[in-house]
Amino acid sequence: MAPPSGDSNVVVSSKKLERLLSMKGGKDEASYANNSQAQAKHARSMLHLLKETLDGVELNMPETPFVVADLGCSSGNNTIFIVNVIIEHITKRYEASGYSGVPEFSAFFADLPSNDFNTLFQLLPPLANQGGLGSMEECLASTGHRSFFAAGVPGSFYRRLFPARSVDVFYSAFSLHWLSQVPDMVMDKSSMAYNKGKIFIHGANKITANAYKKQFQTDLAGFLKMRSKEMKKGGSMFIALLGRTSEDPTDQGGAGLLFGTHFQDAWDDLVQEGLITSEKRDDFNIPVYAPSLLDFKEMVEANGSFSIKKLEVFQGGSPLVVSRPDDAVEVGRALANSCRSVSGVLVDAHIGDKLGNELFLRVANRATYKAEEMLENLQFFHIVASLSLK
Ligand code: SAH
Repeated sequence: MAPPSGDSNVVVSSKKLERLLSMKGGKDEASYANNSQAQAKHARSMLHLLKETLDGVELNMPETPFVVADLGCSSGNNTIFIVNVIIEHITKRYEASGYSGVPEFSAFFADLPSNDFNTLFQLLPPLANQGGLGSMEECLASTGHRSFFAAGVPGSFYRRLFPARSVDVFYSAFSLHWLSQVPDMVMDKSSMAYNKGKIFIHGANKITANAYKKQFQTDLAGFLKMRSKEMKKGGSMFIALLGRTSEDPTDQGGAGLLFGTHFQDAWDDLVQEGLITSEKRDDFNIPVYAPSLLDFKEMVEANGSFSIKKLEVFQGGSPLVVSRPDDAVEVGRALANSCRSVSGVLVDAHIGDKLGNELFLRVANRATYKAEEMLENLQFFHIVASLSLK
């Protein structure tokens, strides 16, 4: 089915999201591949936590392939970097633990079907040794090559993606705050949860925010249930997602500032300038929820299959990567690009790419005037969890 065009009156609702959502593909200025340095930085600052998780994985006989899956891999170098870190770490553990050898590695890159897998696959270096992986030392020593078999997995991580008991390590970074859908009641004009005047839940009414919270918890429950089936006994999972420090879901922290200030104002500009109706704006909602630690913990405990090895709120830093922080225009553009790389596909589907351009121009202009404030206040917090199967 063709993606909905901006001309039809498309409401990005429920089941449609799964066929539509992706980060901006390709490699141009507003692409995810070009705007994910902040995520890369945040992931690197958490590597010690990831390695702790990997130290908890049970090693099987080296004759059995070792399987790693990145859930919500997107298209860019981040996922390849992380898979390499995981494989190098596990390789070292095998070498240190007296096994007769190191297993072959299989890496699954999973994301929604609309993800730009082509760009991702093109970034993958060639396999180290055609016809066999050779010794792991050889593979790791030969830079520019990869030491794992790679495959893409299209599908929602809120459903089954892998055969039962087949994955040793699950990794998922900056993905689980994406809901499977905007809750139906938030789209329903007759409901108290209708998000009138807003495109996100930051500063929205409590009923709307609670509908999002419920959706998040239902989604996370599904995610955990599926992974508990797919994980090998002795396997582990490392999760990082946008989180918040406040208990109040209408205060979405860094996500709130990203989607709830200049982005919101830019939508209001389009309405005031007569470019879209207020109803068109109100029908657009960002399907993101940054949970509190408690929101997250409740669901892991309710699921009951995982022991929590680590669960904390981690200060990730700013999502803006700028070379000249005192250049307000650059800061404004960085904010618009950062916002567009993650929400642009949804925006274009809702109002078309021409109006999408207009919208993000306004985001950039508004952010330029508030550059200093943005740099100072826009901070992301992440919920970081290390879970192993009981
Ligand atoms: N892990 C990467 C990318 C994070 S961007 C990094 O660290 O840079 C978030 C990704 O999650 C996007 O590619 C998006 O398409 C994906 N995603 C969102 N909802 C998903 C779902 N239900 N199933 C699978 N992937 C999903």
